[in-house]
Amino acid sequence: MVDANPIYECECGTQLPAQLLSCPSCGRLPHAGRLRELVADADRARARGELRNQAAALRSALELLPADSRQHEVIRARVVELSEMIDAGLAPKSETPLEDASPNSEKSRHVLLKAGSAAGIIAMLFWKFKFILVFLATKAKLLLLGLSKSTTLFTMLLSLGVYWAAWGWKFGLGVVLSIYVHEMGHVAELRKFGIRATAPMFLPGLGAMVRLHQYPQTAREDARVGLAGPIWGLGASIATLVLYYATQLPIIAAIATVGAWINLFNLVPVWQLDGARGFRSLSRPQRWIALAVIAASWIPTQEGLLVLLGIGAGFQCFAKDAPTHGDARGLISYAGLVVALALLSGIPVPEVAVP
Ligand SMILES: [Zn+2]
Repeated sequence: MVDANPIYECECGTQLPAQLLSCPSCGRLPHAGRLRELVADADRARARGELRNQAAALRSALELLPADSRQHEVIRARVVELSEMIDAGLAPKSETPLEDASPNSEKSRHVLLKAGSAAGIIAMLFWKFKFILVFLATKAKLLLLGLSKSTTLFTMLLSLGVYWAAWGWKFGLGVVLSIYVHEMGHVAELRKFGIRATAPMFLPGLGAMVRLHQYPQTAREDARVGLAGPIWGLGASIATLVLYYATQLPIIAAIATVGAWINLFNLVPVWQLDGARGFRSLSRPQRWIALAVIAASWIPTQEGLLVLLGIGAGFQCFAKDAPTHGDARGLISYAGLVVALALLSGIPVPEVAVP
């Protein structure tokens, strides 16, 4: 889940909604100095060819400008342009997100270095699979980094306690880890677009969420961020299923299918769920196609959750906010996720004894 109520903290410590540009409790206006700094950051990033950092600095500048001002309009246009370039895959891979430069990430860097050298040895051994390993190492790095955030780790442990009490520690741990991977999918995509957000926070018994500090500027980036969670979740579910075939432990199969089910649930296109974000970039005809895919997936799987997805999609077909220019990639991602997750959640699982 992603929550999109951006908040902004005044220097006096008051939390303000982003649309308020002067603080009601201390009367301060955001400093013009900070704006100049951000624009200078953006210029430096631009000189280095860094799209993500440039977008990140400009998004922060947008927060400090009244929405009806000329500067806001100019900067927003540039952010949209950058967002499209990032979406087209033009951002350099080597770009270090600005937040990594903060001093409190020293500890996580240390952990990453160790993990990095271990990954290096494996890469040497399996040099043929180098491409896949590099891909996995990048994802693994982010997954480790996420655990270094204290809110994430603390709420994750609380959540684990709740699921542990309900289903025992093995299943509880499996569910918590699959939710975590899902959330880190959102985090990875938010970083890719330079959108500031909190670390994932678990809501014991309910799942987890990432709170956005900045509104996505285009429907496409909103859709990419929304669907990245289920995409990573699908990856986790497939990896868990492979682990099941290797170990033949029924509990692992149960974790894989429940993980797929949770991710499918998140694709219901209503409210703040990931599915609603995924639908934002789809044109009306594309929404009908998505509905047809949901209906077609129901036939072989009889997955009851698909009825819920279908109802949500049906409403979205008549929503007034559908863009005229569709988003083919968004439709393929959404439809592919529905089919894959519905099939995975329906895989017959050997009976598991739950305490
Ligand atoms: Zn999500």
